[in-house]
Amino acid sequence: MRIGMGYDVHRLTGNRPLILGGVTVPWPKGLLGHSDADVLTHAVIDALLGAAALGDIGDHFPDTDDRFKNASSLLLLGKVAGLLARLDYKLNNLDCTIVAQEPKMSPYREAIRENYSKVLEVPPGKISVKATTTEGLGFAGRREGIAAYAVCLLSEN
Ligand code: MG
Repeated sequence: MRIGMGYDVHRLTGNRPLILGGVTVPWPKGLLGHSDADVLTHAVIDALLGAAALGDIGDHFPDTDDRFKNASSLLLLGKVAGLLARLDYKLNNLDCTIVAQEPKMSPYREAIRENYSKVLEVPPGKISVKATTTEGLGFAGRREGIAAYAVCLLSEN
């Protein structure tokens, strides 16, 4: 078994869609970034790469590379899943947390689980998506950005 953790933060800004776990959340602000800035999926990618000791998201998908401009992070996640499969790693489970003062994430959690379940080719029961506010404290509490954490367990054959 190999454990991995991932963490990411993106800044909230106007005129961008808010995409979390591949789901477009209706909200007046979105996240700033080179790709679609899906902060949750970035944390998940880093957890998976970390478990396999394969570096981080910036090594695999550099933000200086135009191929990844506005790229779907779910697509990048699929590439990482393919890489892990080729190396004979299997995903045991994934647990992740969105840290945002608003909007409420509960209406989108199941859709995010389904997205990850499809891309990572594991049943939804192996995927957990949670959300928390910070009670108004810090950058997330001031609605300046959204953070995400992810932990995963891989088994190697
Ligand atoms: Mg990121």
